[in-house]
Amino acid sequence: MTDYLFEPSEVFSLKVATEAGEYPVARIFCVGRNYVAHAREMGGEVDREAPWYFTKQVAHAVHSGATLPYPPGTQNYHHEMELAFAIGAPVFRASEAEAAAAVYAYGCALDMTRRDRQQDGKDNRRPWSLGKDVEGAAVFSALTKAGDFGAVGPQAIALQVNGEARQDATLDDMVWSCAEIVQHLSQYYHLRAGDVIMTGTPAGVGPVVAGDVITGQIDGLAPVELTLTDAE
Ligand code: MN
Repeated sequence: MTDYLFEPSEVFSLKVATEAGEYPVARIFCVGRNYVAHAREMGGEVDREAPWYFTKQVAHAVHSGATLPYPPGTQNYHHEMELAFAIGAPVFRASEAEAAAAVYAYGCALDMTRRDRQQDGKDNRRPWSLGKDVEGAAVFSALTKAGDFGAVGPQAIALQVNGEARQDATLDDMVWSCAEIVQHLSQYYHLRAGDVIMTGTPAGVGPVVAGDVITGQIDGLAPVELTLTDAE
């Protein structure tokens, strides 16, 4: 057994409805601009050429129900409500059928974002790490197996801040389907169990402040919740 100099990070895992075992998360991929109305509100266009991505470190993921301080280094922390899905089988250069079969489970997720730092990145043509790869900024609900959820389609996806509606759309507003994302992303990565993909947010993103309670739902999935306390 390796003698570590300090305690290694704990595995971050998600509960799965109807399973005793939990799903250990290895990597988090995020799709940019996957709803037309959100792309417009961000001053962009949806690119039907190909989906595109950024990543978040698993070390920055937290479970639904977390209470965290408002993060440092931003005056404009935003909520983004998203459908997440988890890969269940190895797929590389997936066919359409392989891609669909690789989707193991779905969950609700929050892609919390330092919008001001993301905008710095855009303005200066630099990476989005300070904007997106924020400690505690990937919030996940428990997962529901794909067969129990059924086809992705007219399910409502919604988010409230302190109970007030902020985002409200349906999953069939997504530009790229989960299987299309797997097909495309697997051209670049050997996707495998442990990979979780956040599929982009609908319109209505906006700022949150210390004291806010952020709640999100997708019909048929466990909800997601995050509470922000005063900055450290
Ligand atoms: Mn997002």
